[in-house]
Amino acid sequence: MGWYDKISLMKKATNQVHSCQAIVVSCMDFRLSDHLTLWMLKNCPGGFDRVAIAGSVKNLPFVLEQVELSKKLHHTKEVYLINHEDCGAYGADGTPERHKKDLAFAKRIISEKFPDMKVKTLYLTLAGEFTEV
Ligand SMILES: [Zn+2]
Repeated sequence: MGWYDKISLMKKATNQVHSCQAIVVSCMDFRLSDHLTLWMLKNCPGGFDRVAIAGSVKNLPFVLEQVELSKKLHHTKEVYLINHEDCGAYGADGTPERHKKDLAFAKRIISEKFPDMKVKTLYLTLAGEFTEV
């Protein structure tokens, strides 16, 4: 089955129940779009809310608000937080260690606020490699 058919099936299923599996938070950087789309189709077959903002978890208050809305409106059970290599929103501060630290902090805050949600953090390279951190 091609990706277009998968999307059509997913839309059909999610339109009926009006709930979805996950919310995926990532950077808006266009260089990641294809990698993210393929990853989400593979890992979130139950549908996903997609949040794309510069720096991803760097803007934690905004991310928290989106997670809360996703949970409330679509009964989302999983949260994926994805930061990436060479992120312009971080500039020279965007070392892998800094991303790991920010992701861990965001995970802690979200888990405290929404203890029934499963939170996973990932680091994405420009080549499209996802690593759980
Ligand atoms: Zn970025």
